[in-house]
Amino acid sequence: MDAETLQRNADNAMYRAKSRGKNRFEYFIPEMSASMAQRLELETHLRHALERDEFCVHYQPQFDLQTGKLVGQEALLRWTNPKLGSIAPDQFIPIAEENGLIVPIGAWVLLQEACRQTSAWRKAGYPMRGVSVNVSAVQFTRPDFVDTVRDVLSESGLEPSNLELELTESLVIRDVRESARKMEKIRALGVQISVDDFGAGYSSLSYLQRLPIDILKLDRSFVEEFKTERGSSSLVQGIVSLAHGLGMRVTAEGVETEEQLELVHHSGCDKVQGYLLGRPSPAATALSSSDCSTSLRHHRTAR
Ligand code: C2E
Ligand code: CA
Ligand code: CA
Repeated sequence: MDAETLQRNADNAMYRAKSRGKNRFEYFIPEMSASMAQRLELETHLRHALERDEFCVHYQPQFDLQTGKLVGQEALLRWTNPKLGSIAPDQFIPIAEENGLIVPIGAWVLLQEACRQTSAWRKAGYPMRGVSVNVSAVQFTRPDFVDTVRDVLSESGLEPSNLELELTESLVIRDVRESARKMEKIRALGVQISVDDFGAGYSSLSYLQRLPIDILKLDRSFVEEFKTERGSSSLVQGIVSLAHGLGMRVTAEGVETEEQLELVHHSGCDKVQGYLLGRPSPAATALSSSDCSTSLRHHRTAR
């Protein structure tokens, strides 16, 4: 093996170790070259994706569980490359986070798409409230993040209360004090804050009290458990009453079946989102359903 190959293989092992967490090592195995080559190709295309107009945003509806009305939508990024086809966000967002591209891409999602589009829908009189936008740690920790949000609101004309920013639990608990300071500033703009994938990691409940949070988005795994275990609904009920006690609302996501809808309704969740009620779809078709009250009525009468 020549020095160059040795160096490259060591790099591959290092990247693999980094992607699996801090303070660890990995031995090089030949398959790493293939997956690194794939990653490199993805990254090369990703660098030009924004300027080549390869991104678009899909919207998934969120409904109020009491009224059944459409109350908002989550903006979900989509990437279609002419050579690679469509690539799932779970595949390309971690790369964009690592190389910093998530900053311009995230700003594009926020301004060009989510806020402008929602502002246009509201001006056209559509019966929907707001939009939720996912924010990655790399965006949130930048010193100019609050300014970006302020600029986006003024440029798009969207009322601040119609914007919800989704932060993940792991992000906010990394440095609770610093997160709280920034979240207060965002809240002072009138924007709502939700904690995404709540309960997915090792949650420490004490942070909930120390952070200005409006909404908890229950991790999909809780809803999935409803398929098999009715007992898990007591856990959800417990989380819901805790959240309500702290003045927060709860969104259940990943609802795929009528039974799960009934259970999240029964558990006292406030909002619901999932394939059963609407898949993420492009702006042009996103508003086709503005009501899920038929499904909900069905449950009320069935019970
Ligand atoms: P997430 O924020 O937890 O978004 C929800 C994911 O669940 C979406 O996947 C959505 O399509 C999917 N989903 C919705 N309803 C159901 C359901 O009933 N069943 C199942 N099995 N899945 C459902 P998607 O669009 O592939 O996005 C994956 C992740 O990528 C998101 O997870 C989010 O973390 C990230 N992401 C997407 N768009 C953006 C973005 O603009 N910025 C950032 N930073 N991250 C984003
Ligand atoms: Ca989300
Ligand atoms: Ca989520």
